[in-house]
Amino acid sequence: MLEIRPNCECCDKDLAPDSTEAMICTYECTFCVTCVNEILENVCPNCGGGFVPRPIRPKVARRSGLSISHQPASLKRVHTQCSIEELKAFAAKTKHIEPQDR
Ligand SMILES: [Zn+2]
Ligand SMILES: [Zn+2]
Repeated sequence: MLEIRPNCECCDKDLAPDSTEAMICTYECTFCVTCVNEILENVCPNCGGGFVPRPIRPKVARRSGLSISHQPASLKRVHTQCSIEELKAFAAKTKHIEPQDR
């Protein structure tokens, strides 16, 4: 189950559980769409994979026991240890390869 992390690892922007700006990789590394496009160039700096929009957990339990209030989002903020320059340098090595070919 997704943790639904609360922020962008790069710019620390808040990414509410219902944000349409949140992007995740398969390991759930979480970034805002602006950082994914302008800094990371669709290369996750932690695993090298690509990103997709994070799905939004329903607010209303249309199936019993399944909603954002039953399984709440994580409150633990995550921050990258890399500088912007390091993020861009890592992306530059991989961005030319489509995620499905990495
Ligand atoms: Zn960001
Ligand atoms: Zn990743």
